[in-house]
Formats: sequence, C-alpha cells, structure tokens
Amino acid sequence: MKMVNIMKIVKVMKVMKAMKAMKAMKAMKAMKAMNRVGQMVLLLHSFACALKTPKPIKIEVKNKSKKVEFVKSRKISPGEVIRVHLPFAKNKSANIFYCRKKKIMYHSFPDYNEAFISESYFSKMKSFNCYYADKWGKNKQRLLMVSNIPKEFPSERLRVDKKRVTLSKKDLRRFLREKKVLNKVYAGPTERPLFVKGFALPLNSKVTSIYGSKRVFNNSKVSQHLGTDFRAMVGTPIKSSNAGKVVLARDLFFTGNTVIVDHGLGIFTVYGHLSKINVHEGEKVIPFSLLGLAGATGRVSGPHLHWGVKVNGNWIEGSSLVEATN
Ligand SMILES: [Zn+2]
Repeated sequence: MKMVNIMKIVKVMKVMKAMKAMKAMKAMKAMKAMNRVGQMVLLLHSFACALKTPKPIKIEVKNKSKKVEFVKSRKISPGEVIRVHLPFAKNKSANIFYCRKKKIMYHSFPDYNEAFISESYFSKMKSFNCYYADKWGKNKQRLLMVSNIPKEFPSERLRVDKKRVTLSKKDLRRFLREKKVLNKVYAGPTERPLFVKGFALPLNSKVTSIYGSKRVFNNSKVSQHLGTDFRAMVGTPIKSSNAGKVVLARDLFFTGNTVIVDHGLGIFTVYGHLSKINVHEGEKVIPFSLLGLAGATGRVSGPHLHWGVKVNGNWIEGSSLVEATN
C-alpha cells in the first residue's frame, strides 16, 4: 500500500513539473510578443514626438477666483443708482466704505465687496470720492471717483382733492405722525442683502408719471415726483420687486394704503395707493409675492400704482435699480 502511495505522489509531482514548464514556456512566449509590441509602441511614440514641435511644459495654476476689474471712476445722474465692486480693504481696521463722507453698506463676496451708490434728485452736481476708512474717517484707502452727468426732468400739472394740498390742522398732525414712523422705518435698514438676483418692475404697464417730474398741484403747490406711477385698474395684483421684509403695511395720508419692503443693504421699495393690503408688517416676502391690490387711496387723481425706490437714503428712479441688478 505504501509503495503504491509513493508511486502516486511521484507521478503527481512529475505532472505538476510538466505543467509548470509549460506555463513558463507560455509566459516566455507572451513576454517575447509583448516586448515586440512594446518596442513598436516606443518606436511609434518617438516618431510621433519627433514630428511634434517641442513645447515647454506649462504648469497651470488653477485660480478659482473670478477676475474682477475694479474701476477707478464712475458716472452718475441725479436720481440714479449704480452698483460697484470693490477690492477688499487693505487695512482691516479701516474697512468702512464711505462716499461723500457718508457711510455706505456693502456685502462681501469671495472675490470682492459689493455696494450701491445712489445720487440724490437734489444733487449739487459735484464729483465725489468713495473710499475705505476707519470709524473716524481716518486711514483712507481711495477706491473710486464718481462724477455727475446732468439730467433734465419734465413738468406736469395735476388736479387733486384740495384738502390733500392745503392740509387741515388735523391732517397736518396726522402727516407729521406718519413722517416720524417713516423716518424710523428708513433709519433701520437690514444690513445684509435680503434680495436675490435682479430687481423687477412691479407692473408691466404704461408709466403714467415718470420719476423726477416737477409737479404743480391745483396750480399752487409745487413738488417733485420721486417715484414712478404705473397705470393700474383698481384690483390689479401688485407684486414685490424682490425678496425682503415688509416693514410697513398701513394707510398713510399721502400714499394711501402703503406697503414698504426692506430688501437689505439700504434698499427699500414702496407700493402706494393700494385698495387692499395682503401682507403684514414683519412678514418675509419672496420675489413676486402678492403685496396687495392697486387702488386710488391717498393723494391721487385716479387709480394707479406709485412705486418708490429708496437706496442709501435717496429716492431714486426704480428702473435704474432694475438696470443695475440685471
Ligand atoms: Zn406717484
């Protein structure tokens, strides 16, 4: 039995040896073949390289930041707003942005700061500098110079209810009370932007009175129209120009049922003469949120929407904010 077993083991070992030898032969053949292919590849590669013009090796440093050009001068008209991109302040303790010594809010993006510069309707037409400085206005870093372009505004005559031109004592007291409320609203804007992307006109209808018209009410009182009037039937849905927070939703003497939206970064939009208000103070709105319905409340000569836009304390032409953000 033992002898048979030993014989079997020897046989198996021989078979295994033969198999190993065969495998080695095959591997050798394969390697030779591969060598031939390898040499061919090398030959072709060097031939191709010889045909190509040798180029210096370029090491590309991927810069993820967008290239932002920081302009040194801009132009502005009375009642206009411009959007500016600013480099970061060199001195972190002097990073307050000023134009004409007035503090202007800005928002930081990864590659730049963004701010809105507005010019008053009553501009004295003097060029001004914008710069970073500390809270005392010292350690200035000059950024850009803004020069004025003159603009002419038309005149118009309107006939309205005479009690809204010459105010009674009671109405005057009401107006002064409302003025205080409004001053408080405009004095506390949300610093960070609440708006998203570009601003939109509140209505797609005929503009019946443009921004800046000099107005003569009932042939006596003279004032300026610092908003845009859109033709709107009573009941026309009035939607928010952008996202923000409703900071006022009530009846006012001059603008009737009024909604004011704070969009942050010093930007407010006002919707006046509404027949119905659909939002409440403190409510957050998204672009095109229904604010109310058009009407003829307050000082009006007929139903329409009065759209006012205030940027950094100046009433500006709403369409210039639409242009600056789209
Ligand atoms: Zn108006």
